[in-house]
Parts: sequence; structure tokens; C-alpha cells
Amino acid sequence: MFRKILVANRGEIALRVIWACKELGIKSVAVHSDIDADSLHVRFADESVCIGPALSSQSYLKIPAIIAAAEISNADAIHPGYGFLSENPEFAEICRACNITFIGPSPEVIALMGNKSEAKKTMKKAGVPVIPGSDGPVKSLDEAISIAKDITFPVILKASSGGGGKGMRVVYSENEMKDAFNLARSEAMASFNDDSLYLEKYLENPRHIEVQILGDKYGNIIHLNERECSIQRRHQKLIEEAPSPALTPALRKQICETAVRGAKFVNYQNAGTMEFLYDNGNFYFMEMNTRIQVEHPVTENITNIDLLISQILSACGDKMIYKQKEIKIVGHAMECRINAEDPFYFTPNPGKITTFHTPGGPGVRVDTAAYTGCVISPYYDSLIAKLVTRAPTRQDCISRMKRALESFIIEGIKTNIPLHLKILENRKFKMGKISTKFLEELLSR
Ligand code: ADP
Repeated sequence: MFRKILVANRGEIALRVIWACKELGIKSVAVHSDIDADSLHVRFADESVCIGPALSSQSYLKIPAIIAAAEISNADAIHPGYGFLSENPEFAEICRACNITFIGPSPEVIALMGNKSEAKKTMKKAGVPVIPGSDGPVKSLDEAISIAKDITFPVILKASSGGGGKGMRVVYSENEMKDAFNLARSEAMASFNDDSLYLEKYLENPRHIEVQILGDKYGNIIHLNERECSIQRRHQKLIEEAPSPALTPALRKQICETAVRGAKFVNYQNAGTMEFLYDNGNFYFMEMNTRIQVEHPVTENITNIDLLISQILSACGDKMIYKQKEIKIVGHAMECRINAEDPFYFTPNPGKITTFHTPGGPGVRVDTAAYTGCVISPYYDSLIAKLVTRAPTRQDCISRMKRALESFIIEGIKTNIPLHLKILENRKFKMGKISTKFLEELLSR
């Protein structure tokens, strides 16, 4: 077992890793930028190291500073959380070279799945259905037009190295292609330092359904069922739930077993997520995230499995203790991402939280690093808290979420709680009739 884990992250996920370490009797080391010195992850870790100024590129993304912190503190493993360096194969490789265990899959698998067009190619080989489109990156505008005509418009151009909903452009006709292609390329270059693009059919009204995977070092891979993340704003998730109201038991079995097949094909280790789009009874692989997801608590709630503890045990070489047939879905769970932003214009609204009071009671979980008097900084993402509810049925889960949102007090800055309430009160949402277009349609009314 590890003696000490360095947490290469901040905010709620850093705290979540620290809680898991405490439960396993492992010491934890927090790293922080100078403006995060008073953060809760620093306060609750056993040790902390300041790794640089506020700017992420000079602190949370700075590999030499993080490795130095691990060496100074004598940590034997690093948990990267999500975002920052969590899907950076170079970082995982450097950890390996320094004899520090990276808690996640191998650098080779991170690199393979990190390139989205290569990942699609690999999954196709594994027999996993993928969205029709280019076979790898598109080399020229002419090629993009010719493939688009083949698979028919609308199509979507995506950055091969993309993520976080960025670097995507929908193209409805041939005469829009030239501008879209050039713009998408320069956006991809600016955001990901890689201008390679791939192209696929744009599905007009799909649902986003993803499967949680867990693997050990000995080839044992299981799934922990699916999450539905169709409530999105500009391709970014806002509300997630499990199980998906769209799936029958037969479809669930099919999509989850397909995800396991894909993960086995790349010899996947540790926790990961296979993302699919589901449309008209068909599902298609979209990408794999080789890390813990923001929305992992909904899966923990329906399966009663602690994903962070599972990640740590898998990384230190423990054999999988779960059998697929023992994994059960109990009740329903939902997560609302509470962000510091204007609820309807989505502009970030950083600042000082003057009062912070979290809801509680049965079936309510709040993952947060915020407190009264803390400052939500413009330097990092605007997530303040993840509000997660569980209940025997979807309907009860929604009622519970509504009362939890109504009793969540966050003063001093604007949050998107009013938007969450508006979504929860919507008739179609309550009936489970949702798609990735849901929010756009709700707000255009
Ligand atoms: P990222 O890695 O940036 O999050 P994804 O490839 O996971 O990007 O896509 C994010 C979201 O974008 C999806 O959940 C979906 O809403 C939308 N999307 C991506 N590809 C397509 C597609 N081919 N058709 C329709 N919507 C898509």
C-alpha cells in the first residue's frame, strides 16, 4: 500500500482524494498556487507545498514543480484528479521515470485515447460502433467536403486533441465548410497546440450516455453501469444522472458490454469512462476519458462503490474485488453542477462568497471546497459545488434535488441555481425526455 499520495489538483476533487486517503490510512500532500494557500485542500492534507503563482501554467500544470514537490515530500504516488495534468501522457511517463506511481492508466493508453481520432480508429478495430466520419484526421478542405458529402450534412468538425467541449464546429452545408474548416483549425491550434481535425456526422438530437469502467493490473475489467449527461450548455455537462431514463435493461447490457470490450481491447487499467452518443436506438462511441470524471458521485450513489478508493487500490496493484454480476443499480442519483456564473447569460461571476450554507438530510451529498469567506478565483474553473441526490426513484430524486437546491445558500456571487430549478421544473425533463439539445430549446423559449 502507498504511504503517501500527492494530490496534483485543487478544489473539490483534491478534497475528495484526500478523504479517500484518510479512509485508507494513507498520508496526503496538497500542492497549491500562492492564491490557494488558504484553501481547504491545503488545510486538510497532512502536508502542503506551494508550487507557484496563480496562473495554472505556472503552478497546477507545471510538471517540474509537481514532481519536485513529490520528491521533497517523499510521496510514492500522485493522483491527478480531473482536468489539469490528468490526461497528459508526458506527465504520466515522467512519474513512471521518477518511480512515482501515477494513479491512472499507463502513459501509452492515455496517449492512445487522448487523440480522439486515433481513439475512434482503435475502437472501430475493437468492434465498437463509432459515429460515421473520417478515418483519422482530415488532411485538406477538399477531403473534408468529399467525406461530408458522402456521409451527408450536417457534420461536425472536431479537434483531434480537443476536450472540454472546445474546438468543435457544426457545418450544415458545403458552402459553410471553407470558413468552418479554417476557423476550427486555428481554434484547435490556439487551444490545443495541434491543428489536426477530424470530421463526423452531426447527430441532431442525441443523448449523451457514458459507461464507467474499472480495471485492475491483471486484465480484469468491469463496468459500473451508465450515466446520462444530456443536459449540457455549449457541449459542457450541467446535470448528470444514473441510471439513464432512456435505456431498457437489454440496451443497458449491450452498451455496457460494448464499453468493456473496448476497454479490454486497449488493456485498460484503473477507472475510465467510455462516452457514447445515443440516437434512435443506436449508440456510437465518441471518446474515452482516462481519468476520474466530475460526475463520478452519481455512479458511487447507485452502486455503493467508492471510485476514488478503487482507483488507489488498483494503482497499487490490488486485484479487483468486484465481480460483474455483483454490481447492482440501487435507486436513482442525480448531480447538479453549481457554478459561479450568471444563471442565464453564463458569464463567469467570480468573487467572494459572503455566506455559504450547504443542504443536508437523507440522500443529499455536497462535494465542495467552498466556505463562507472563500474567494472563487477567475484563474480556475467556476465550479463551486456538486450537489448530488439519491432516492429510490427518479421522481423522488428530482423532488429531493429541488428542495436541496432551494435550501443551498450561496451569497455574494451569482450562481446557476435558478437555472437548475428551471430545468427540474420542466415537464419534459421530469418525463426523462431529454437530449443534448434540451437546454438550448428551453432557453430559446
Ligand atoms: P469534449 O471532449 O470536448 O467534451 P466530446 O467529443 O465529448 O467533446 O463531445 C461533447 C459534446 O458535444 C457531446 O456530449 C455532444 O453534446 C456534442 N457532440 C459531440 N459530437 C457530436 C456529434 N457527432 N453529433 C452531435 N453532437 C455531438
